[in-house]
Amino acid sequence: MSDEPTQVEGLGSVPHAYYAREEPLTGVVLLPSQADHDTGEHPENIRRLPGVVDLLRASPEWQRLFVLYPRYARTQDALRAHDAGFIELLEAAGGDAPVWLDTDTRVSPGSFRTSMLAAGAALGAVDAVAMEAYHRPDSLFTLTRPPGHHTGRDRAMGFCLVNHVSIAARYAQEQYGIERVAILDWDVHHGNGTQEIHWDDPSVLFVSLHQWPLYPGTGWLDEVGAGAGVGRTLNIPMPPGSGDAEYLEALDRVALPAIEAFRPGLLLVSAGQDGHAADPLSDQALSLSGFRGMAERAAMLARRLGVGLVVVHEGGYNVSTLPAIDRAILAGLGGFDVPLDDVFVPAEARAADAWPDRLRAVLDVQRPHHPDIG
Ligand SMILES: [Zn+2]
Repeated sequence: MSDEPTQVEGLGSVPHAYYAREEPLTGVVLLPSQADHDTGEHPENIRRLPGVVDLLRASPEWQRLFVLYPRYARTQDALRAHDAGFIELLEAAGGDAPVWLDTDTRVSPGSFRTSMLAAGAALGAVDAVAMEAYHRPDSLFTLTRPPGHHTGRDRAMGFCLVNHVSIAARYAQEQYGIERVAILDWDVHHGNGTQEIHWDDPSVLFVSLHQWPLYPGTGWLDEVGAGAGVGRTLNIPMPPGSGDAEYLEALDRVALPAIEAFRPGLLLVSAGQDGHAADPLSDQALSLSGFRGMAERAAMLARRLGVGLVVVHEGGYNVSTLPAIDRAILAGLGGFDVPLDDVFVPAEARAADAWPDRLRAVLDVQRPHHPDIG
């Protein structure tokens, strides 16, 4: 497949190919006040992101990155993905804080504001990659918390308050007239909230790679959407023990060809780093170079399509490894060389035995909907 960006007609999107450069430009959106969402002793806590920002600031590539700061998403932005009563409940919950919205989703007084700032980071990133200007980032990575992909239309769950990636997809459609948006979710948990919001929506292709079985229990390969959205949900349940080889094969043979054929006007990634070998919440074996490879593939696909790419931070719960993983993702987006030695992954990573059969099963279910995969 050619690396040359091609101009795609009729997407209602900015023809990025017109502005194509030799070097891709990337950067970050930083939350100035994520500590206001204070969950206490919890895997999703205020200690997750500062180390990421510290490592990036100390790295040689920092000077090459765009650095943006977000505005708050407005209520009307959130209402494109959520019910009004749910947003009111979230806003009111801060007044009674600390409260638990489900068994693992804790709210402090500043939690709703922080999640709306994280959503605003994704919206600002959409604005920046959609800009009609030569000096524009090709991609942006929002370094935000809490995550958002478990929240559906009217229920917070799994550490998530509002669904940032869904709010961003709907914003891009409304603000920029982008007809079709693709969401690639590589968080180790299934993005059940995103799936629910776009379940019968033919304008959003949702593709999820997630460990199976694992929380929240949804995302089996036969969940393909409903009504006009049949074929617009594509689940790739990865067997426990899956590592770089399995994830990259799932992208190369299923996820990326399906997204490319869908011809989205914008690519969003729900980037959870909890599939890394050292993450406490999963059994997967992804390495730094695996994350770099996934990000690089997403960036190359966006470039081929001539569209912007926004990578939204989801999970990733080992505070000591998350900085290097997020740096590896930025390296993939921007084409940087960074250290990828990963002491947590054995040199001879054992392949997940169940993977070949699983891949065949996914292909069998999805080929009728996506003839280009295989
Ligand atoms: Zn996760």
